[in-house]
Amino acid sequence: MIQSNYFTDNADLQEHFGQIIDWPGIIELYENGFADAAEFRKTKNPRYEMAPSSVEEAQQYYKEILNSAGEIAGMHVSQAAQAIDREGLKYTDNNVIHPQKMIDVIQKYRDAGLPPIAFRRKYGGLGLPSVVKAMASELMYRADTSTTIAMGSMGLAGILEKHASEEAKEKWIPKMIAENYCVAMGLSEPDFGSDLPSVRTKAVQRDGKWYLTGTKRFQTVACGLNGGPAIMLALARTGEGTTGAKGLSFFIVERKDYKVTGIEKKLGLKASATCEVALEDSPGELVGKEGYGLVRYVIGMLNGARMGIAAQGVGLATAGYMEAKKYAAERIQFGKPIQEIPAVARMLSRMEREIAAMRCLMVEGATIVDRYQCPEFNGVVSDEARYWEKIANTITPISKYYNSEMCNELIDDALQVFGGSGYTEDYDLARLYRDARITNIYDGTTQIQVNAAIGGVIAGMAAQGQWRQYLDSLTKQIGKNDAISDIRARFEEVVEAWRKFEDREVKEGMSFEVVESAARLVNSLLMEKATLRATDKATRAKLNAAYHVDSLATVTGNLIRLRAG
Ligand SMILES: Cc1cc2nc3c(=O)[nH]c(=O)nc-3n(C[C@H](O)[C@H](O)[C@H](O)COP(=O)(O)OP(=O)(O)OC[C@H]3O[C@@H](n4cnc5c(N)ncnc54)[C@H](O)[C@@H]3O)c2cc1C
Repeated sequence: MIQSNYFTDNADLQEHFGQIIDWPGIIELYENGFADAAEFRKTKNPRYEMAPSSVEEAQQYYKEILNSAGEIAGMHVSQAAQAIDREGLKYTDNNVIHPQKMIDVIQKYRDAGLPPIAFRRKYGGLGLPSVVKAMASELMYRADTSTTIAMGSMGLAGILEKHASEEAKEKWIPKMIAENYCVAMGLSEPDFGSDLPSVRTKAVQRDGKWYLTGTKRFQTVACGLNGGPAIMLALARTGEGTTGAKGLSFFIVERKDYKVTGIEKKLGLKASATCEVALEDSPGELVGKEGYGLVRYVIGMLNGARMGIAAQGVGLATAGYMEAKKYAAERIQFGKPIQEIPAVARMLSRMEREIAAMRCLMVEGATIVDRYQCPEFNGVVSDEARYWEKIANTITPISKYYNSEMCNELIDDALQVFGGSGYTEDYDLARLYRDARITNIYDGTTQIQVNAAIGGVIAGMAAQGQWRQYLDSLTKQIGKNDAISDIRARFEEVVEAWRKFEDREVKEGMSFEVVESAARLVNSLLMEKATLRATDKATRAKLNAAYHVDSLATVTGNLIRLRAG
């Protein structure tokens, strides 16, 4: 793979960081009057030592972190990725061995102090807004997915920061950071994947302690890294005789208390351990309140998880695009570099504009998550925060669905640019292709994301609906734009056509067309919004114009499908 700093070598990412993102707005929200810096001045508590005390300091701090992540990702992880993938994993009796090269590059992340990226300073984390976390994830996923998943799994424990008792947070989060824990999200079971409300693992209480019994499937890094510590955050049924979501609670189960009975042989992610886990009367520590596991905690965690995959999609697609662009400049056919052949140039330019759109969506989604989560963390309840939560509940499934589906399409194109060489294991495209394929399946399939978004889009498009208000506010910011007006008009027709269906199943079956149309419109708007603050407005205007044509074509195609019923 290309060897360079993946933060500084990416012009679009640099433009977002340096020009497009509204840092004062984000920083004021996240830093809450620079309360952490004030806490450090008062107490000298080392957890707050790095807390910025101004917008400029915060921006500089984020830049240093992204620079460091970009350096490790692009100079080291990317160079080891192919060997890591080829070596893969070895399973023997409750134990999984990861490639030594993977352990070595993860050590570089650890030496740079990056693992606690997901946590707030209060619990020993780096204290980063969601948009910085998303950008850091993008850089790392561009280098290697298996390594990034193993390195970043600890971030799943962000759910504890939100829902565990203060005592449990202090017990677990600093320990996880200090000892480099892996964290598995124990949701799926052999018979229940999308259908989480039916999960069957049981938790019973004896002498004031909880014990879990059941089988969890597809548990990423539940094994830990070569003997290193791990926990599983497991969803289990506590209410006697209950069915459905309300009987489910959330538990911390330690690695020593469960058995890894095997790992999956998979299409991709060859060095990411997907474990089958047996819980046999395994001690578990209840997180938060009994019965809130799925309905409050897992659901509450979803917006962050969806943005994680949205960033993964951008990272993988960027890897494919950058590699394809380099190859197309070097590969000569018919006496010229293939980048000069119109059919190849067409694939490359589609990749460029789609990645620009995906990155806009990632940045917007992450910013919106902060707009309701930061006030929530600071104990502020406001109508504005509630509005942003509603928008987040619609834009995050859209981001997850769009970026994961598009990442698959773009890597397919990138492989095509490599011709036969792309199909071999000599280059990185085959691995990227295999690794991309899971993004639209795990953490909720595309179909489940569509189910999650459709209500917010349809109800939100009512006369006073929140999605309409959100679209109107973006439209107002960008001013008059004929291309966008055409897409919006067509989108309104799409919504109307869907509303006219009387049969519930027909509605469900045609939801994708509505959600895809909503995604195209919002992306077109976000690309224009980004251009307002960008330096190279002329280049962006060209990308935007081509993207809007694609959007109009897609939304019009969906309208035709919906009208046909
Ligand atoms: C590599 C890998 C890593 C994973 N890591 C984890 C992990 O760490 N923790 C964890 O808990 N799980 C993990 N998973 C599981 C993953 O989240 C599930 O595979 C995923 O949610 C889909 O569930 P399923 O495989 O049971 O498919 P199913 O739920 O059986 O779905 C099959 C098909 O039916 C569709 N479908 C199902 N229900 C609906 C519906 N209501 N509406 C529309 N379409 C529907 C789906 O979209 C899909 O196309 C992992 C999976 C893999 C492959």
